[in-house]
Amino acid sequence: MENTFKKGGISVQTEHIFPVIKKWLYSEKDIFLREIVSNASDAVTKLRRLSSLGQYDGGDETYRIDVTLDKIAKTLTVSDNGIGMTAEELDRYLCQIALSGALEFVEKYEGDNQSNGIIGHFGLGFYSSFMISDTVEVITKSYTDTPAVHWTCNADGNYETANGTRDGHGTTVIMHVSDEESAYLEKYKIEEILEKYCAFMPVEIYFTAEDDEEKKDDKKDETPEAPKPVNDTTPLWLKNPSDCTPEEYKEFYRKVFHDWREPLFWIHVNADYPLNFRGILYFPKITNEYESIEGQVKLYYNQVFVADNIKEVIPEYLLMLKGVLDCPELPLNVSRSYLQNNTYVSKVSAHIVKKVADKLCSLCNTA
Ligand code: ADP
Repeated sequence: MENTFKKGGISVQTEHIFPVIKKWLYSEKDIFLREIVSNASDAVTKLRRLSSLGQYDGGDETYRIDVTLDKIAKTLTVSDNGIGMTAEELDRYLCQIALSGALEFVEKYEGDNQSNGIIGHFGLGFYSSFMISDTVEVITKSYTDTPAVHWTCNADGNYETANGTRDGHGTTVIMHVSDEESAYLEKYKIEEILEKYCAFMPVEIYFTAEDDEEKKDDKKDETPEAPKPVNDTTPLWLKNPSDCTPEEYKEFYRKVFHDWREPLFWIHVNADYPLNFRGILYFPKITNEYESIEGQVKLYYNQVFVADNIKEVIPEYLLMLKGVLDCPELPLNVSRSYLQNNTYVSKVSAHIVKKVADKLCSLCNTA
């Protein structure tokens, strides 16, 4: 690359990290996209915060994240117009901090069979992109208007940094999908992952695949429909329960659980300090006694999906419920044994049990 101003190798102690990451969490590879998109979302949130503090004036800028799939170039790109990074920040955050975080994660959990089935739900950040990529490029420009930087890192851990070109502030991450992982070049696969992990992230996400471009060509003469974001940035659980209508609860239920029957009733939990979590739990309608009662409680961390049916949070006998729980206090890099011994988790669980019991009692009393 011309005008390269820095070359480096991910250092001695880290030389094995890339092969490990590539094999790591084999069945949970999909999380790489959640990690990259949630970094983009955090980058926008940081800029919004600066703006609300009066430290940045973005005018009437609209913030967004674009996920673009190019099957011919074999790339999957995530671009945001958030805070961006200067060359120094990129070096510090990606080459030092993110890398040591990923290393620590891998060292801690490699071979930890006990945590199987849960640990994969928690990410190892930026470097999880190497689970599916040969090379990852980052083109970033800080909101402070320093020159853009172009960083390229291959799967052996060698990287180089050069001057980049980028119109506005923000970050573009280009993942060159490896031949073994070509499943991630399928449109439906990316749609499925976005729906699962990113459906409620707080910044609008737009997805384009190259076959959409073909469709656009076919319909050249028609007025193009305004693209819609793939996510709902203000999920119902964030609203004050007294501002939600029964119709809103039912619609949210249909949308999230694809169950067209009306739920029997629901509980909107809104626990403030010190527990600080929110959620909506639904009692599904069972039409006949032979039907298996299989619920689904989706756990979120600040609007980012983490996992289904974590029985440390929802006791097993309540797993016939359907619902969403957003626990921003949940420590993310956790193992199952950690969750079992965590007082915050057991308090959340006790709070839910109490809310369900109260609701059932009040129903009995009014019946
Ligand atoms: P984490 O997100 O848990 O901090 P990551 O490895 O995912 O760890 O990212 C490391 C750091 O790199 C982030 O904390 C952030 O400072 C920086 N970073 C990553 N992606 C972006 C982005 N899209 N825009 C700005 N900064 C980013």
